[in-house]
Amino acid sequence: MLDQQRILRTPVPGPRSRELQARKASAVAAGVGTTLPVYVTQGAGGILVDVDGNQLIDLGSGIAVTTVGNGNPRVVEAVTEQVRRFTHTCFMVTPYEPYLEVCEKLNALTPGEHEKRSALFNSGAEAVENAVKVARHATGRPAVVVFEHAYHGRTNLTMGMTAKAMPYKHRFGPFAPEVYRVPMAYPYRWPGGPERCAEEALAVVTDLIHTQVGEENTAAVVIEPIQGEGGFVVPPEGFLPGLAAWCREHGVVLVADEVQSGFCRTGDWFACDHEGVVPDLVTTAKGIAGGMPLAAVTGRAELMDAVHGGGLGGTYGGNPVACAAALASIETMEADGLPTRARRLGAVLEERLTGLAARFPQVGDVRGRGAMMAMELVVDRETKEPDPALTAAVNRGCHERGVVTLTCGTYGNVFRFLPPLTIGEDLLHEAMDVLEESFAAAVG
Ligand SMILES: *Cc1c(COP(=O)(O)O)cnc(C)c1O
Repeated sequence: MLDQQRILRTPVPGPRSRELQARKASAVAAGVGTTLPVYVTQGAGGILVDVDGNQLIDLGSGIAVTTVGNGNPRVVEAVTEQVRRFTHTCFMVTPYEPYLEVCEKLNALTPGEHEKRSALFNSGAEAVENAVKVARHATGRPAVVVFEHAYHGRTNLTMGMTAKAMPYKHRFGPFAPEVYRVPMAYPYRWPGGPERCAEEALAVVTDLIHTQVGEENTAAVVIEPIQGEGGFVVPPEGFLPGLAAWCREHGVVLVADEVQSGFCRTGDWFACDHEGVVPDLVTTAKGIAGGMPLAAVTGRAELMDAVHGGGLGGTYGGNPVACAAALASIETMEADGLPTRARRLGAVLEERLTGLAARFPQVGDVRGRGAMMAMELVVDRETKEPDPALTAAVNRGCHERGVVTLTCGTYGNVFRFLPPLTIGEDLLHEAMDVLEESFAAAVG
């Protein structure tokens, strides 16, 4: 495997990356942004190599995708083998066994012991769209309830379901109707304080649905059990179970969007497992297939099977190469105990971030679970005014020092950490040292 070391041979980005980035401007649509414009040639474990020969520590996993690590040997083997056999037939035309195996795995691994069915797609957004299709079809109801700070994708329906205008929705409307937004149980910013957050948020949410949507009009409540792009917001204990109970009572389909939080990321197979929440439908993607594009909706057989034959599908959904990668990734997660590994990495991250919070008053909150940790930066701990400028400066500092870090949050003031679960702890500590150094430099 690639030498697991951070090596800086040039400034970051280096001259060759700068050249390519200039070429990007004349070839690639300007709307397609890049967080850190180093052009990658290789990746393995916790390291990415760029065209200038720099070796960067990867704390992003391509946004929570390469959970089993880039170039994971099982995934490489399985993909190579499948590519040799055949690359595509379209499951809707002439099917193949790996698609069934992935669905069987999903049915077994997702929360709940009930009878389940799955359908495979290409992207997280597509999975969310299809979950809404299933929920509407099965209930005969139109409305979809989503949350503040939610992120569900960039297609028209999922843009409408996503909360943040800039950059995701700005001038891209009009959006699909019958999408209703309610407050998120966000402990750090809940007006009544974190202790009252679960109970009060549940009351506000269910009251808004009752008065402004109507339970009998509501097909689904769609929630990320730990929010991703919106700021790694972890709802307080009790909120998700309360929401699930309310949905059950009113025949509303609870959709857990586990696209970012699923597949061992949070130290459980799924973030819902933490409180034993059993959603009716679960959407997955990102970490499912070691970097190959694959997504799924998994859920109660009676809901999934309600849809007429031919009502769900797509040309590429459940592509055999992606399925092979998923099976190898899931095998790795099971064989290598990656949920436990995520907890261990989470403990390291939490300790280091808590250390940062003790040193820098700009760290307002440290939160997350497992290898899905974040810190929220504020101008002042009293007012909690977000500090996106400092967040950007620290982020830039990390990049220049050879660590791939990501930010998120409605206010752009949250640092999120999503290391591949195969990263070495020494490398993670080194990245945290770099973060601390960059923080110190940014606050002067
Ligand atoms: C990334 C993400 C999506 C969209 O997935 P794509 O594969 O980018 O379409 C949907 N939901 C959540 C929670 C995500 O993090």
